[in-house]
Amino acid sequence: MPKCLCPIVPTIFLAPLAAWKIENLTMMSPDEVSALGVVRDVYEDDQLTEIVVEDIRIPSQQAGPASTEMDPEGVAAVLAEFAGDGVDAADVRLWMHSHAAMKTFWSQTDVDCIEGLRTGEGAPLVSIVTNHDGHRLGRIDWWEPVRLTLDDVPVEVLLPDYDLADELSATLAERVRPFPPPPKTKALAIRDTPAPNHHGLWWEDDGLDLLGGHVWGADVDEEDVR
Ligand SMILES: [Zn+2]
Repeated sequence: MPKCLCPIVPTIFLAPLAAWKIENLTMMSPDEVSALGVVRDVYEDDQLTEIVVEDIRIPSQQAGPASTEMDPEGVAAVLAEFAGDGVDAADVRLWMHSHAAMKTFWSQTDVDCIEGLRTGEGAPLVSIVTNHDGHRLGRIDWWEPVRLTLDDVPVEVLLPDYDLADELSATLAERVRPFPPPPKTKALAIRDTPAPNHHGLWWEDDGLDLLGGHVWGADVDEEDVR
């Protein structure tokens, strides 16, 4: 069945297992590191809306602070491992790599690697680059029937649906209440302060003598003031 490619940008979702592995692989590796993964395309009305990354595996490779290069036999071994789990090789369409301490972007080496992982008709290749700051940059490439690249594709972690929304909402209503309004104070805001009278005094009758400078309130005797 012919399927539309992407009038809208699909979201790349990481299943919990894949998210855990990608996050920890990134943080455990002081240098760059590559992994391959299995994906599941989700279509709604022939429209690709999501690509879910289900799992990843690490092929043997050479890696340094600024590059990673998978061994061809390492890639073949990972494909064989996935096949042993019943995964179709055609669904192994994720390449993720970490940029370690560097920012997330696509280097020319990365673009060359993506070209080398060219996929078949209607089968998008998902690429994700991560780093130690927790950034994830996503990209989707098609080669057939047309060459197409979507960059800066959102990458989100797929949370399980625990079906606990009603319970959570009831607990929220039962246990969380607003703070009471703050008590009113006698202090006057500046905007409420009356203009001084012709003696330059405020509240002369209440004993507040700003010119004397030290009497606060008519009922304060000198003993208390000292
Ligand atoms: Zn890179």
